[in-house]
Amino acid sequence: MSGVVVTGGASGIGRACAEVLVDEGRRVVLWDLSPSVVDVAASLGTTGIALDVTDEAAVAAAVSQTVDVLGGVDGLVHAAGMVSVDPIGSLTAELWDKVLDVNLRAHALIVQALLPSLRAAENASVVGISSIEGLVGQGAIPSYCASKAGLLGLTRALADQFGPEGIRFNAVCPGFIETPMLQVALDVGLREQFEKASPLGRMGQPIDVAHAVAFLLSPKASFVHGTHLVVDGGNIAVNH
Ligand code: NAP
Repeated sequence: MSGVVVTGGASGIGRACAEVLVDEGRRVVLWDLSPSVVDVAASLGTTGIALDVTDEAAVAAAVSQTVDVLGGVDGLVHAAGMVSVDPIGSLTAELWDKVLDVNLRAHALIVQALLPSLRAAENASVVGISSIEGLVGQGAIPSYCASKAGLLGLTRALADQFGPEGIRFNAVCPGFIETPMLQVALDVGLREQFEKASPLGRMGQPIDVAHAVAFLLSPKASFVHGTHLVVDGGNIAVNH
């Protein structure tokens, strides 16, 4: 018996991933900074662990608790993330480090902490949530863009190192998805701009991303490795 760790599982994309995986009959444990993770997990009949994914001791304890609950870990979705509007000119080293730590460094350290379980699992698969902003630039959020581009590089390095052991690594690059992370932008009137960015004329919903993640975690994606799947409604495919 084993299951999937979903970081950022209390909210938005991570929560939707957990819901879709449970619907598919997979077992999950949710990790999140927000204490609400306990109730969200309970609503799915599982365990939620409140922790800061940048805290290595807390991650080690969570791995141990998770293995106790699931029996083993055969998947990881790293959806915990943050964005900071910090253009060069008003950037601080502290904010830069925080964004890079949560979005990028934590992914590497969580994979490392889960390695014994991933190695023991059959068909282990890891998905990092990057962003279209890992592929295209946005001047207001350089730390975010760097963290998400870095996640794609990290994914390829992990794919190289662990492919021979049968552990698959991929990333998903969402476009504008309607979650609490974008609420501030929606509150200042950017909804129409986000909707127009996609030729489909709408923002994405967390479940749009979750289905792509579930595919990458599944044996249906058994030869998909070391790459990224863009889930943006065509946003970066067009030029308007
Ligand atoms: P969200 O609803 O804000 O969910 C992110 C979750 O991560 C929150 O529950 C947050 O907890 C948690 N988190 C933040 N820092 C953490 C830490 N240090 N340790 C543990 N958990 C932490 O945002 P979302 O849109 O679903 O974002 C999920 C992922 O998708 C992120 O990596 C984001 O960058 C990426 N993404 C989002 C979009 C989009 O348009 N929404 C587009 C591309 C990529 P708190 O709420 O307590 O901080």
